[in-house]
Amino acid sequence: MDYNTDFEMDFEDRIMDTSEIPSDALDSDNPLRPKTLDEYIGQDKAKENLKIFIEAAKKRGESLDHVLLYGPPGLGKTTLSGIIANEMGVNIRITSGPAIEKPGDLAALLTNLNPGDVLFIDEIHRLSRSVEEILYPSMEDFAIDIITGKGQMAASYHLPLPRFTLVGATTRAGQLTAPLRDRFGVVLRLEMYTPEELAQIITRSANILGIKIDEDGALELASRSRGTPRIANRLLKRVRDFSEVISDGVITVEVAQTALDRLEIDELGLDQNDRRMLEAMIKYYRGGPVGLETLAAAIGEEAVTIEDVYEPYLMQIGFLSRTPRGRCVTAAAYEHLGYKVPANTAAAQGSLFD
Ligand code: ADP
Repeated sequence: MDYNTDFEMDFEDRIMDTSEIPSDALDSDNPLRPKTLDEYIGQDKAKENLKIFIEAAKKRGESLDHVLLYGPPGLGKTTLSGIIANEMGVNIRITSGPAIEKPGDLAALLTNLNPGDVLFIDEIHRLSRSVEEILYPSMEDFAIDIITGKGQMAASYHLPLPRFTLVGATTRAGQLTAPLRDRFGVVLRLEMYTPEELAQIITRSANILGIKIDEDGALELASRSRGTPRIANRLLKRVRDFSEVISDGVITVEVAQTALDRLEIDELGLDQNDRRMLEAMIKYYRGGPVGLETLAAAIGEEAVTIEDVYEPYLMQIGFLSRTPRGRCVTAAAYEHLGYKVPANTAAAQGSLFD
């Protein structure tokens, strides 16, 4: 998908980046992407619910209700949308919020759908207002009203649409407007994966790619993958190169550790960028609180990247907290990076409650 190439270019070199890589695009031939719910590992709650909704819709011969998937990048939202279409036995059309520039673009997409089809809109929080306004009635009434021309030449057309399923994906559920959010019948939040689930994903991917990895090797990669399948698959491919050169081609725990140490990915999955950000907060802002924009400027990174890519995992492992006055580094992060927690800082006060 080419709508986020700018974003990709900036982070091309970052292994721990969660943003989409070309081989992840649904229409590309990515052999690692599960095609059925049974192949999709983890996310049990979301999966169980979806299974029921899909079965019920199929029994009634109806299209599936609109689905909103939210959670950090790389957790499997695009994959799940493909699975939904596959399990329903319908086609999927893929687009994204920023790619739909005008109401006419959306109208063209909608009128080309077949009954029951899935329309997947990634980054749905980035739709423009004018596009959102024709999306609401199309989701609710399966029809759109298009106005052409201006003044006396203006004409309005009422176009009926086939019943379709909108699957929206977002990293920011909070940024969706209430009327849009309310029109999704099914709202599923994707969680970060446990190391055990990621080890299963890694083992499955290794089988598909013909890579040899033992159980402990898989678990070692898993525990450094930041709860994210996209990173787990990427680490597997990078570590394979090391295993072929420094050992007999099998990824064992030792090979995994050596390779990841060389790639400067520590035992918690933090890379140089995470450490650089935490250290900047510690050195220049006494661990915080520091505002997002100030922090972004200090480390030369986009605020959205900090929010979408760095923070979810750092918060998950309790290294970062968000307060009304800004971001704070926790005592645990100080210790992990080898710093003493100074007295009278947010981290020191926070540690009383740890
Ligand atoms: P998102 O759309 O949330 O950014 P993707 O659906 O593109 O994430 O997933 C990224 C990659 O991770 C996919 O290529 C897929 O191979 C893998 N993946 C994601 N979720 C799972 C899962 N539950 N089981 C196995 N592989 C997964």
